[in-house]
Amino acid sequence: MKNKLTIAIQKSGRLSEKTIELLKKSGFEIEINGRTLIGKCSNFPLEVLFLRAQNIPEIVSDEVADLGICGQDTLAESKFSNLKEIEELGFGECRLVLAGKKGVRISIYQKRIATSFPNILKKYLDQKKTKAEIVPFSGSVEITPNLEIADLICDLVSTGSTLRMNGLEEIETIFKSQATLISLRNFDSSKKDILDKFMMRIRATLLARNTKYIIMNAPRLALPEIRKLAPGLASPTVTSLSDYEMISIASVILEDKFWQTIEQLKTLGASGILVLPIEKMIL
Ligand code: AMP
Repeated sequence: MKNKLTIAIQKSGRLSEKTIELLKKSGFEIEINGRTLIGKCSNFPLEVLFLRAQNIPEIVSDEVADLGICGQDTLAESKFSNLKEIEELGFGECRLVLAGKKGVRISIYQKRIATSFPNILKKYLDQKKTKAEIVPFSGSVEITPNLEIADLICDLVSTGSTLRMNGLEEIETIFKSQATLISLRNFDSSKKDILDKFMMRIRATLLARNTKYIIMNAPRLALPEIRKLAPGLASPTVTSLSDYEMISIASVILEDKFWQTIEQLKTLGASGILVLPIEKMIL
């Protein structure tokens, strides 16, 4: 339908909880009933299809859904050339690694490598010009070296603990992945307006996730230095205090440099620093 967007997301699995959280935080009220495969949104022209992760690129490629949320690994493995990534979503981070039995140094040349990602692995091996054999294997690939089905494995890890539990160690990362929002390369122009509204809400949530609003008192003379540390969106808000030597400054800082920035602000004489979460940020 022209007047609504359809988005395919993972029904149940590693990405589903955070995907639904992102949609909800972005203000989309979706009716979720564990048994149905289609969810309606009550406050936006949006329909949600709940699918297996591996089916998401295909359903977008076939134009059954306008958008999809899946791992970059799933997208790369699917090889649909008519798809593009619109936005990285900052969750579901993992790496596709080559691993082998702990302590046994095996080169990737002329070896059997078991994987459920044969396409990504083939591309990597072609780049390296190796003659390693790819052993397609779906399920618990970690078991294959012990069963002597393969010498190495190529599998997804986030912490690496599953590898270690199976007596394996990482050799190298061949692909980095996180959840991503995908669409057709040639997105239906008649839906562009709805897509823009959808993206404004999603981006407002993504931007706010990495920021904090801070208000502090500081010596007036420290303003130039504080401004460099906490420039805010345009520039910080500065309010005079009854003590002329002091000012109150409000600004936005990045979450991933939070403590570092706070320590530097304190060194410059900032005090009474109040920190507030930002729910949405619309640029
Ligand atoms: P699932 O089908 O539930 O196993 O979800 C698989 C997707 O979750 C993958 O395509 C990855 O994008 C993502 N993911 C994040 N961390 C990991 C991990 N440690 N192992 C496998 N998949 C992961």
